Amino acid sequence: MSIKKVTQHPTQNEGLIFERSQTGRVGYRLPKLDVEETNLDEILPAELRRTDDLEGVPEVSEVDVIRHFTRISTWNYSIDLGIYPLGSCTMKYNSRLNEKTARIAGFAGLHPLAPEQEAQGALELIYNLQEDLAEITGLPGVSLQPAAGAQGEMTGVMLIRAFLDERDGEASKDRRVMLVPDSAHGTNPASAAMAGFSVKTVRSTDEGLTDMEHLKQLCADGGIAGLMLTNPNTVGIFEKNIVEICAHIHDAGGLVYMDGANMNALVGVARPGDFGVDVIHLNLHKTFSTPHGGGGPGCGPCCCSADLEPFLPTPRVEKDGDVYKLNFNRPQSIGRVKAFYGNFGMMIRALSYIYTHGAEGLKEATEAAVLNARYLAHHLAEDFDKPFAADPMHEVVFSHKKQSRKGVHTLDIAKRLIDYGFHPMTIYFPLIVEGAMLMEPTESVGREDLDAFIEAMRDINIEAQENPQLVIDAPHSTRIGRLDEATAARKPVLRWKPEMEASAKSA
Ligand SMILES: *Cc1c(COP(=O)(O)O)cnc(C)c1O
Repeated sequence: MSIKKVTQHPTQNEGLIFERSQTGRVGYRLPKLDVEETNLDEILPAELRRTDDLEGVPEVSEVDVIRHFTRISTWNYSIDLGIYPLGSCTMKYNSRLNEKTARIAGFAGLHPLAPEQEAQGALELIYNLQEDLAEITGLPGVSLQPAAGAQGEMTGVMLIRAFLDERDGEASKDRRVMLVPDSAHGTNPASAAMAGFSVKTVRSTDEGLTDMEHLKQLCADGGIAGLMLTNPNTVGIFEKNIVEICAHIHDAGGLVYMDGANMNALVGVARPGDFGVDVIHLNLHKTFSTPHGGGGPGCGPCCCSADLEPFLPTPRVEKDGDVYKLNFNRPQSIGRVKAFYGNFGMMIRALSYIYTHGAEGLKEATEAAVLNARYLAHHLAEDFDKPFAADPMHEVVFSHKKQSRKGVHTLDIAKRLIDYGFHPMTIYFPLIVEGAMLMEPTESVGREDLDAFIEAMRDINIEAQENPQLVIDAPHSTRIGRLDEATAARKPVLRWKPEMEASAKSA
């Protein structure tokens, strides 16, 4: 099979905007000066003025600018374009209604320093979202301040530390071990270490579950401050021993932190607070349909038990009769973790998502997310190695074992998916599965889309078996094939300089 590379396609061959520059070309026309020209020397001292030429600023027309940026925007894949099966990321479709709500002028234009009495609507929204997330998690104390999941983790383990210091006094310094499973997201041990804990790793079993014997052994060693556990875990399997796990940690004098990034498998069906979890973070930008990817604002609420509530960040939004208030008077609080009250726009979108679904709708979304992942698991299990036998929850992990014999690895399969028009799945995570491919379709894909994705994966398997080089050299349909990613990350070229034009032209 040979694939012809189209080299002249206008949208695929867009160069740098600097290369379009034509001396003297402009995208504006100013009216004639109708006032007296000012002598610059009189208003701006010479030492404050630049003397070099503004060399290299592209001279282009309006249409040059519009087409340049529109063309490069078509190289992106987006959630509005199709299925985005990144495991652990919950890339669900974000409804336009949530966007519309977030743009309501009274919300979008509100100044963060507006006095309480003029911000009652915004405070009510924060309060109602706190209440709903408390109901969803079964944990009554909620702070919406953290700006990301990782910051929610950090906040959560700081609450644990503050609680232990209060409970145990001096003796608390002997209780600094945070247990983290080997399947955990890298942010978990990082958050624990930043909050002053030392991390010990808990092994997973061949079934993809926490190794209970190892957990008990580590608890017996003493010094346990807590456990950070993801449930369903990062291989997509529900930790069926969760109640027992929490009991062991509590018996050892520690607290249980749950990484709630995978709550899309539980919302409306099961509540972490009921398992015995003490504190959890949520990712509104995953589970609650606020946009993510690309480094925009996020929101990682921290929800905790009544015992931990006094330590939550300040200020807290509270209700006093019919009035909403910001409470700064919280002497046990760990303090602020984010300017003002967090990323408010995310909160509006999340509440809009919760209200449009209602309790029944949230449960249905969860069920559909799990059903979709199981559909993928079922239809791909013959062609791809599925390391864990259990039915997955909202995401499923495969490995490249059946393709690597032909020299085709996870990265190659992911790159080949691009040629089929799909965004690849998460690759090489979790680390405990060699050549992992973690797929999470979410509830927002229908059966046709799932079938198309399954067909693409199956075709790629046939290619891997019959014509492996085709997959190894993929992608064939994009402007750039394989980058030297290490060099790109270590020596990024972030600035265009005039001499680069000469070398680009001679290349
Ligand atoms: C996404 C994720 C995080 C971190 O969340 P951010 O919002 O990206 O900081 C933590 N744990 C797991 C399991 C995740 O999937």
